[in-house]
Amino acid sequence: MSITDPHFAKDEAAQLRFGTSLVGASRSDLAAALRSLGLADREIRMRVAQLWHWIYFQGATSFDMMLNIGKPLRASLQQHYTLERPQVVAEQISLDGTRKWLLRLPPVDERDRGAEVECVYIPETDRGTLCISSQVGCTLTCTFCHTGTQKLVRNLTQREIVQQLIVARDRLGDFPGQTPPSNGLIPSGEGVRAVSNIVFMGMGEPLYNFDNVCEAVGVLADGDGLSLSKRRITISTSGVVPQIAPLGDRAGSMLAISLHAVRDELRNRLVPLNKKYPIKDLLDACRSYPGVSNARRITFEYVMLKGVNDSPAEAIELVRLLKGIPAKINLIPFNPWPGSEFECSDWETIERFSDIVFNAGYASPVRTPRGRDILAACGQLKSETQKLSARARLALDEA
Ligand code: SAH
Ligand code: SF4
Repeated sequence: MSITDPHFAKDEAAQLRFGTSLVGASRSDLAAALRSLGLADREIRMRVAQLWHWIYFQGATSFDMMLNIGKPLRASLQQHYTLERPQVVAEQISLDGTRKWLLRLPPVDERDRGAEVECVYIPETDRGTLCISSQVGCTLTCTFCHTGTQKLVRNLTQREIVQQLIVARDRLGDFPGQTPPSNGLIPSGEGVRAVSNIVFMGMGEPLYNFDNVCEAVGVLADGDGLSLSKRRITISTSGVVPQIAPLGDRAGSMLAISLHAVRDELRNRLVPLNKKYPIKDLLDACRSYPGVSNARRITFEYVMLKGVNDSPAEAIELVRLLKGIPAKINLIPFNPWPGSEFECSDWETIERFSDIVFNAGYASPVRTPRGRDILAACGQLKSETQKLSARARLALDEA
């Protein structure tokens, strides 16, 4: 099923009001916004707490709803700021309940023409995971990944990262007083939120957008607002070694490593960043990841590529390499995309690999591919946004 918003292209006015939405703002952004309206410091603190509650706990979509804020201030907020979300340009719902949204981000400055990112929701019986993007496209070129074929357009801002969760909660009726859509397999029950977990496994390399990602985690995990536990926020990296320890210190989230190979020679081919940060350095960084313990294990992702990295010898070597690191191993069946040079390993091969890992004492769930019918599975995301050519920018400037 695919729903396309017919009004999207016409809403240019909304696109031009860049930078004014308070959705996704940090507490200090909100304080700055209130200061710009002339509020005194002693009032700002109280108002920030109120705005925070309305925006993140209640999911307010208009300043009018904020009844504990006086009318004149509401009017002033209304005049200078918005509570706009990125526009949902398309929503696809897979037969297995996975939902993929294509979001149109308004321009962040005069030069930006706006961008599109994808965001995927994966419901299970006891949890709902939202897979969010950190960049439009990716500068890295892992050979099995569709996103890697899209030229990087830009980093997402902290607000845009947070807005992906807000849009998901809007669409899933996951704010107080809302009703979940009737056509979905959405976890429900006392105290169960439709979105309970977040993984940074959409488009982009989160550690190449470090500050925005860390600040976004701060907003997502704030207990007075969106309230996601940091233990339920996982950041996946292809291995930007120098940023791994700082990530643990600053974001304090869970870590996932896209390993995919046990020898440098092969990993260089699959994840070219390995030439800069080889396996040994990567695993050393994991050993000393701040906060790592048996209760807070690092997830190692391993995509199963037929005849490339899926032999029993490689499974044995994987176990040897991870010795001493509190780890979970996540075997991901390769998701094909148009033009990809790889195939997914046979099911028996995946099972044999998984048995070796399991017998060595690791939980080794094979990640069931979700949303394959709507190209929403790992590594299949790619939006049509391209960098504007110099000529197009010039034309724009002249216009
Ligand atoms: N850039 C980060 C996060 C996004 S990719 C990273 O690489 O970790 C999220 C996960 O999907 C990574 O483990 C990535 O290696 C995996 N992936 C990419 N393409 C895939 C494909 N076609 N099939 C299965 N998994 C894929
Ligand atoms: Fe980028 Fe991750 Fe895809 Fe590699 S796997 S190209 S790092 S998004």
